[in-house]
Amino acid sequence: MRFAAGLVGVVVAASLLLGSAVAAADGSDDQAAAGQVPWTRSIVCPVLYTHEVVNQALLRRFLAGLLAAGYQPTTLASVNAVMSGSADSPRGCIVLTFDDGLLSQYLNALPVLKDMSIPAVFFALPGFNDGVHRYMGTAELQAMANAGLEVEAHTCNHPNLPRLARLNLSAFFAEVQDCKGILEGITGRSVDYLAYPYGAYDLTVLDAVSRAGYRAGFTTRMSAVLSYSAPYALPRIHYDLGEPPASVLRRIRAAGG
Ligand SMILES: [Zn+2]
Repeated sequence: MRFAAGLVGVVVAASLLLGSAVAAADGSDDQAAAGQVPWTRSIVCPVLYTHEVVNQALLRRFLAGLLAAGYQPTTLASVNAVMSGSADSPRGCIVLTFDDGLLSQYLNALPVLKDMSIPAVFFALPGFNDGVHRYMGTAELQAMANAGLEVEAHTCNHPNLPRLARLNLSAFFAEVQDCKGILEGITGRSVDYLAYPYGAYDLTVLDAVSRAGYRAGFTTRMSAVLSYSAPYALPRIHYDLGEPPASVLRRIRAAGG
């Protein structure tokens, strides 16, 4: 859906004048409140997510399969430009995201992505250590950002955010707000996107995330359609690098991508 620039201006001005009376259902008003150009265009652009990258060969095989199928990985910055109406949608739009800031992503994804000049997004957990998995520390997260990859937020301690908001509101705000600043301090870049741990969110979470100045939030609801009217509940599609690329491609297509 495309609006003429003048109409967008009128819509934005009307939203600002009417304020919270019309803001409830439309997250783009929250974006305006955060000082951002609200999204006005929905696009089809599957956002994929995975966790461990067990070896480089599997990632190369997967990326080759995506490229051969006509997909061209892009950045969240590009998606933002398209949904804000300042750029045309790229051909074969798809976004690769990696959750949990795992060390295997630094060891195995970074070299492959650099070698193939493919952008990706890392939803990191700065300072997290559960004693079970190995995580990226400050140096690795900085290396990711310096390589031009997007390092975004996944909270600091991977809580179920709706549950934490009910149990301890100050701890909840620390995960949403303070953690954004901590990650920005590490990467030296603005952190504009949050992936909800376990994909869990509710109205309290959506409200806090928009107030904290995030551009958008990602769930684990499966769809390829990024809707401008629900920026804080964007869908993603799971995949595992152990799967044959063809089965991931079937899932993407089933989700509308
Ligand atoms: Zn996670």
